[in-house]
Amino acid sequence: MARESTHLMQLPAGFLRQHLIDPEMCARCNSCEEACTRQAITHDHRCYAVDVERCDERMDCIRGCSTGAIDNWRVVSTTSLYTVEEQQGWHELPPPLPLPTGAEAPAVRDALVQAGRRPHAPASSATPAVGLFTHDHPGVAIIVANAPLTAPDDGAEVRHVVIRFDERPCPVLEGQSVGVIAPGFDAQGRPHHVRLYSVASARDGETPGAGDVAFTVKRVLHDHQGRPVRGTCSNYLCDLPIGSRLRVTGPVGETFLMPDEPGASLLMICTGTGIAPMRGMIQRRLRLPRQADGPLVLFYGGRTPRELPYRDELDRLPIDFVDAHYAYSRVPGRPRHYVQDLLRQQSELIARFVLRDRCYVYLCGLQGMERGVHDAFIDILRAAVADWDQLLPQLTSEGRYHVEVY
Ligand code: NAP
Repeated sequence: MARESTHLMQLPAGFLRQHLIDPEMCARCNSCEEACTRQAITHDHRCYAVDVERCDERMDCIRGCSTGAIDNWRVVSTTSLYTVEEQQGWHELPPPLPLPTGAEAPAVRDALVQAGRRPHAPASSATPAVGLFTHDHPGVAIIVANAPLTAPDDGAEVRHVVIRFDERPCPVLEGQSVGVIAPGFDAQGRPHHVRLYSVASARDGETPGAGDVAFTVKRVLHDHQGRPVRGTCSNYLCDLPIGSRLRVTGPVGETFLMPDEPGASLLMICTGTGIAPMRGMIQRRLRLPRQADGPLVLFYGGRTPRELPYRDELDRLPIDFVDAHYAYSRVPGRPRHYVQDLLRQQSELIARFVLRDRCYVYLCGLQGMERGVHDAFIDILRAAVADWDQLLPQLTSEGRYHVEVY
């Protein structure tokens, strides 16, 4: 039997605050399911859901979710709780029901932010627009560019795709994501779910003032055995010719945002297509007056220089604009080298940065990198006579540490 009240909200008997995952915002990265020690989170081939009978509201799942999909609640009667099967059939969350008489509005978010357990936007960041378009009421966009960033070898290719919103504008900030709905139906005959892509351009557009939005899209062409593989949405996007119309949702993301304060420095750590939000932030900085900027430092890991999206573009930046460091894991004849190795090599720089008031840290890319980077921070901070495990909640609560790993 599910609990009837929680320590976070006063509810009359017979009501429950049910934890739900927003299917439109969910990146399907599995971080919540991995973090939940109660096995309360589960997924089928398209949706994540919370089993209300198992959820004990420890909220270990909150920190790893970069889109905010995990942070959704509905006050429901205990006789009409949403089942896992029901949740897995949703495209979007049901509308909130009116609060029952006697319920106190929750201050849950504030409490979690203060404890450094919930991601938090920099205090100075611009206010993001979210959810202007939904699965049931999508926006329409037009493809204005679609070009390869890497050669289609090693079984995958990465493309730079630029869209322009048609009919209605859609303001986005660097670090937010936009959803794309591939046409057609899945194997169960249900419409495809939304696939999120990080915005890879600045807020004023890929072309300054145009309001268009760039994505960095990777499609896998072969599996490890060399058999052809065709993912649904990335494949759809990569094949769309210029002028095609597509359905979009969002924007999503309220925390992985740039500070808007003079002197703020950005420490950006990414692998592969995780460069997308960093490119947006660098583009934004390029268009701001130089004197307002703090330093930009980039640690970027990929298999080979050829497979690193935007490597050429980064090389063409003005000298000293970004302090860029690269790690390559599959250069023939060379030992494997990863971003966390680079961090350790630059330990003095890293310690100086994260201990500075105005440094904001961004981590984006493969899920496995988070652990490696975390361990590197522990070692680096220990050598600087500081404690990463104490610093991390502080950075998180100050909106200075942001993770988006899938
Ligand atoms: P990838 O090419 O497969 O890998 C990039 C580099 O990361 C390789 O050098 C790889 O080394 C290395 N790596 C693998 N495991 C690692 C670990 N545990 N710690 C540190 N480095 C590690 O990367 P990708 O396919 O582009 O994937 C990027 C990820 O970013 C995806 O999960 C994607 O979903 C996510 N992402 C994408 C976007 C977007 O908008 N496109 C936005 C946000 C996040 P090996 O050679 O050993 O494999």
